[in-house]
Amino acid sequence: MKPGKVYLIGAGPGDVELMTLKAVRLLGEADVVLLDDLVNREVLRFAAPDAEVIEVGKRGGCKSTTQVSIHEQMLEHVRAGSIVARLKGGDPFVFGRGGEEMQCLVAAGVEVEVVSGVTAGVAVPAALGIPLTHRDCARSITFVTGHACNDGAVNWRGLAGTGGTLVIYMGIANLAQIVAQLLAADLPPALPAAVIQHGTLPQQRSVVTTLAELPAAVQAQGIGSPAIVIVGDVVGIAGSLSTSIEIFEGRL
Ligand code: SAH
Repeated sequence: MKPGKVYLIGAGPGDVELMTLKAVRLLGEADVVLLDDLVNREVLRFAAPDAEVIEVGKRGGCKSTTQVSIHEQMLEHVRAGSIVARLKGGDPFVFGRGGEEMQCLVAAGVEVEVVSGVTAGVAVPAALGIPLTHRDCARSITFVTGHACNDGAVNWRGLAGTGGTLVIYMGIANLAQIVAQLLAADLPPALPAAVIQHGTLPQQRSVVTTLAELPAAVQAQGIGSPAIVIVGDVVGIAGSLSTSIEIFEGRL
């Protein structure tokens, strides 16, 4: 029996045209496709017609899928000799537990290859015309998770002190606390800030405002996950691509 292989593939931020050529090719070669909930289902048009497609997202239709069960399913199929395309939203190694999945596969002696994808933290601001760096106002970018913002694991004060752009994944549920911590760390209340939901997709929605007003504006517009939060002077540049901004609030 020919040995199987797992490809940990980044499917990009949403717009299927932002998938890499390599991701498209390997998806077409896979016997089994394991899909995260953030992956746009349109990508399945690149899968082989007889490929087995398994939804393993933790949201949406399949709430009960645990990380352990995802590992078990990958191992089961690859041990049966299948080529497995494990498709993850954005980049597999950015806040996606791709590192854990690779460790599990390597520990089991399985051949695994990682295929980078365009991460939401890069593509989603761009969809609104926000450059992450700019010689005039941002010389660094921080990608940070807002998932557990109160457990001390993230040094928000330190991040506020970088003077660069903050790009916060999974920040909506804790947005008010995150903003409070950034303001307490002396970021100016009038610093430009934005939230973009479903970035790069037709249903993209956004709020551009100031740091202090961001939580109220997001709530007022009913913006939820998945969304990227961007804080920094670069957000003020978004206006130069104003055609892509659907909701423009605040006092920039
Ligand atoms: N590996 C993914 C991130 C997984 S964590 C990547 O590299 O992009 C999931 C978080 O990513 C979401 O909570 C949200 O913060 C962000 N995200 C993913 N897709 C998004 C999109 N189309 N628009 C806005 N945020 C997105």
